Order: sequence, then structure tokens, then C-alpha cells
Amino acid sequence: MSKCRTAIGILVGLVVLGSASAIADESFDQLVQKGMQLYQVHDNVQSVATFEEALKVAKPGSEEEFTAARNILMPLADMGDRDRLWQAKRRVALLDHQLHGTAIPDEFKADAQTAATGSKAPTPPPSVSASPAGQDEAIKLYSAGKYAPAMQKLESIKRAGNADAQTHLYLGSCCQALKKYKLALVEYDWLAKNSPLISLKRKGTDSARHLRDAMAGVCPGDCLRLSMPGWRHEQGDPPNVLRLRFPYQNGTRGYMAFSSNHLGDVVKYKNGVPEDIGKCPICGGTGHVEPLK
Ligand SMILES: [Zn+2]
Repeated sequence: MSKCRTAIGILVGLVVLGSASAIADESFDQLVQKGMQLYQVHDNVQSVATFEEALKVAKPGSEEEFTAARNILMPLADMGDRDRLWQAKRRVALLDHQLHGTAIPDEFKADAQTAATGSKAPTPPPSVSASPAGQDEAIKLYSAGKYAPAMQKLESIKRAGNADAQTHLYLGSCCQALKKYKLALVEYDWLAKNSPLISLKRKGTDSARHLRDAMAGVCPGDCLRLSMPGWRHEQGDPPNVLRLRFPYQNGTRGYMAFSSNHLGDVVKYKNGVPEDIGKCPICGGTGHVEPLK
């Protein structure tokens, strides 16, 4: 399944941490699903807002809170919102410590104490930035949902020949938010081809693919689709049946291979074991959604 090899795969993996059993969890699961969907179509602002909703629904100090708190990191990182990202990372670190006994990283340690004594919220360390003049301001505008003025600023940076990879990423994101999809693709493709940073190169590749999929009406969910790489014919199956392998993630060697009879279903990991959880809630199992216009 293609998503496993992308940043999105990490999100999908993390969602598994929250148990999806009781009915009471439903709205939490729906919010997390929606947050992922928004992240996949690069709507970081709405994705963050949706994960924040999920955080409100989650019981404090639960695995659910941990799941939502971790999921929010990626859209925040993409938005370049250093302050909120730092706060979010701190929340994850403290929860991880509380729930799993993981050591608190040094940068959050002092704050764990102030948090315990109820002192004021800690301030993140000062950010070191070597970005082109005006870019931080443009990113702030973008993070506030002011896409048109952000886009203007980023375009003038680009025109002046000062664009770096972040300029292209945010310009692409602004264009997408403003429904200028062809322009957004130009920026994402530039990143995919030229970014000196591997993470942004991948981001460009993924964003371009997700946007092209959305424009073609391909479901942004994780439902099994034949367009995903990795389908193969397995010995003993009828010639018209293909299978997609999902390796165990619980330390057991081996995999489960879901057949093409499961197309349109979502496979999720539960305690490291892949499981068909039924029809995709986004497309109803058709693999198609209304194309982005
Ligand atoms: Zn779907």
C-alpha cells in the first residue's frame, strides 16, 4: 500500500495506537480520520483544527490523547509554526512519559517540573532562521489562513530570485488553499525534483500525488485500490485474484496478504496485526470521490 512508504503512513500507523473499539470512541476516530484526510490534501490549517477537536474529545492522559497529540505534529511542522509545534512536542513527550514511561527529553524536562507546579506555560527556545527576508511573515500569514497575502509575499520572494525550498512549499500550499491547483502542482513538482532537503523532496512528491489524485477523484483515504503499488499474484490463487501484503508490526515475521476481493476496504493495524476494518468511510468502498475543482 503506497501510503506506507510516505509520511502519511506514519500518521496511519499512529492512529492504531488509539483503540477503535467502543462506540464512545466513534467521534474521536472520525475526527482523527478527518484530520488525516485534510492533511493528505495539504489543508494543514484545517487538519490542525480537526486534530485539536479530537484532543478535546479525548480523555485527558489517555492513549487517544497521545494519538491525536502525535498526529497534530505533522501538519504543524509543515506549517512551520515553531511555537505551536514546540508546545505540541512537549505535550507528546509528557504523555509518552506518563503513559509509557518513556524518558522525557532534556529540552522538556524543566517544563515538566514547572507544569507540575502549575507555573506559567514555558516559552519555546528562540528559533534560528536563515530564510529569505519576508518569508517568516509570509508563513505567519499562511498559518493564520491568510493565503492571498501570503501568496503575494512568497511570489515576490520567488521573483527576486531568493526562493528556498520552503518558499516553494508554502507557495504551493497557498495556491492549493486558493484552489489554484495547477500553480500548486508547479511548486510541488519543483520540490520533488529540486529540493536539497530529502524531507521536502518527499513532501513535494507526496503533495503532488495527493493533489493529482484529488483532482482525478481518487479517494484520499486508505482504502485498498489497485492503483497502489505492490499487488501481486500469489501461488494457489485463481489467475484473476491479486494480493497486497501487510507485514506484521508486532515483532512476528511474515505478513498478511489481503486479496483484491477486499478492494475498497481499509486495513488498519491492531496491536501490530493488520486487520480489515470494513468499507472506507470516505468513499464508501468505491475508491472514488467527487473530483477537486
Ligand atoms: Zn476510500
